[in-house]
Order: sequence, then structure tokens, then C-alpha cells
Amino acid sequence: KTNQEVPLDSLAQQLLNGDRKALAQSITLVESRSQNHRKQASELIQRILPAAGKSIRIGITGVPGAGKSTWIESLGKILIGKELKIAILAVDPSSTLSGGSILGDKTRMEQLAHDPNVFIRPSPTAGTLGGVHRMTRETILLCEAAGYDVIIVETVGVGQSESTVRGMVDFFLLLALTGGGDELQGMKKGILELVDAIVINKADGDNRRKANQAKGDYRQLLHLLKPATEGWETSAYTSSAITGDGIEEVWKVIMHFKEETQKSGVFEKRRSSQSLEWMTQLMMDRLFNEFIEQEGRKEQLSRLKEQVLSKKLTPADAIEKLFTQ
Ligand code: GDP
Repeated sequence: KTNQEVPLDSLAQQLLNGDRKALAQSITLVESRSQNHRKQASELIQRILPAAGKSIRIGITGVPGAGKSTWIESLGKILIGKELKIAILAVDPSSTLSGGSILGDKTRMEQLAHDPNVFIRPSPTAGTLGGVHRMTRETILLCEAAGYDVIIVETVGVGQSESTVRGMVDFFLLLALTGGGDELQGMKKGILELVDAIVINKADGDNRRKANQAKGDYRQLLHLLKPATEGWETSAYTSSAITGDGIEEVWKVIMHFKEETQKSGVFEKRRSSQSLEWMTQLMMDRLFNEFIEQEGRKEQLSRLKEQVLSKKLTPADAIEKLFTQ
């Protein structure tokens, strides 16, 4: 529910003052699908935009059970100690497709959930991954305007979600588990070329030796691959989200990344190209929607699909007809 009584001016002002209720309310506005709310949301974004953009945006992916929640909680505690404000958002492809959720409702991050310097927002559930993508992008801006220094976007390696998250963050991290050569072989190589660091988690107890072994294997493999970020060497590390070992080191790697890429200009260059890609995406969505909403288009499209399936038309001929009839 969006509280429509609050005028945008004061909502924007409260947001800029770091008011959590205003932030939650703004996100609800951004996540709303009503036409009227969309208009208000974009006006709000316009107003707060000059105050956005100052955080480090970190994406974290990994299979369910890799330890993402636990790891984020552990990192979060370190960051709170540094007097940083942290926002945790989720892109959960499962919740958009099936209504279920792989990432869960985040009640697991109990220690962080009650900290005044931490803001946790579960994945928006409405609509397509494209829609969730839009909401998450805008939510990042809102959190930044509200003064959050670190934005963490969590996702699982399902379908398009990893490249979606790569397209909205500065630093992208894969949380992996040991499994030796088997895991490396079975792994989608694609993800290794999207990330800026691989962190082998659960490097504790009896698993520590295997984790170190896996770190070596990953490092070797990474040498053969194209790094995700120009001028940055993606490497592998170990951590334990339970004991906290290695997490501070990963934070240092992220800070080093930020420093280096800001110095070389790659940081800003990526943000600029992310903006342009995003603009292109919005344009495509808009063109598609306006076209498909035209009188009779959906029926025409499904007729043409049938003709393609029964081999009466080639896909190219079908598209030709779609635009000329
Ligand atoms: P997610 O699905 O990736 O968010 O994973 P969770 O954070 O829910 O963790 C899955 C399970 O692994 C839980 O039982 C955690 O307690 C456990 N776990 C997470 N990190 C570690 C770790 O570093 N070491 C060990 N031994 N267990 C861990």
C-alpha cells in the first residue's frame, strides 16, 4: 500500500534525510504497477537522482546453500563496525516465475535485520524479470539517496538473473563451494567471465584444505579466461561465513577494486555504459509493449506462430507479415 497523502516533495526530503519509513514507502511506490504510481515514482527518482550514485554496488551470486545469507550477514557486521550503512536487495528469478522464492524472505539475516544502519528488502515479486530488474535499479538509487554506502544485490544462478545483476553493479562476486575438479568442470564457464572475485565459502574445519585446493584450481582456470572488468584480475579467495575468516580480506579486495577502477576511469565507464544499456532496454520494452497492445496484434501474432509451427511460414516470413499487414 502506498500512502498517497504524503506529497512527493516531503517524501523526497525525508528520503534524503535518511528516513527509513520514507525509503520503504518510496520503494513501494517504485514497485507499484499502477500507472499513477509509476508517474510519481519517476518524478521522485528525478528529484533524488543528484544525491544517488555514491555507493559501491556489490552483486553476490551462488547456488542455494552456498552461504549467501550467512556471508552477507558476516560482511554486514564488519561494515557496521566501520560505521557504514548497508542496503541488501535481492533479485530472485524464482519468485517472479513461480511465486516461490529461492532466496527466502531474508528473516535469516536476523542480526542485521534490526540494525538501524542496515536496510533489507526482499525481491519484488510482481511481474517479469525485466520488471524486477527495473524496480531493483530504481531501488538502488533510492537507497543511495537515503545515504546507504554499500548496496548488496543478491541473486542465485538461475537463467538470466546473473547477467541482469552484473548489469547493475560495480563489483560482482561468486560465492562457491568446494567440490574439487568435478565442480569446476560442471560449472558454467559463463559465470566465471562475469565475476570480479570467486570466494570459496565454508573454508572451515575439515573443509579448509579442500577449499584451499579449490582456490588454486580456480586461480589456474581464471588465468585462461577473459576478466569481467578491464584492467582487473579476477582471483579466487577462501572464507568462512561462520567464523568470519577471510571476509575482511574480501572487503579489502573490493575496496582495492574500487580504487583501481576509479583511478583508471573504468568504474565510471561501466556505470555510463550500464545507463545506456538500461536506456536501450527500456526503449525496447516500450516499443514492444506499444506494438503488442495495438488492436488485434496478439491474435495476429498467435496465428502467425501457429503457421510457423505447422511449417507454412518461416519465422522471417511471419515477422514480415506482422509488420506489413
Ligand atoms: P544461501 O542459500 O546461499 O543463502 O545459504 P545460507 O546462508 O542459508 O547457508 C546455507 C547453510 O550453510 C546454512 O546451514 C549455514 O549455516 C551454512 N553455512 C553458511 N556459511 C557457512 C560457512 O562458512 N561454513 C559452514 N561450515 N557452514 C556455512
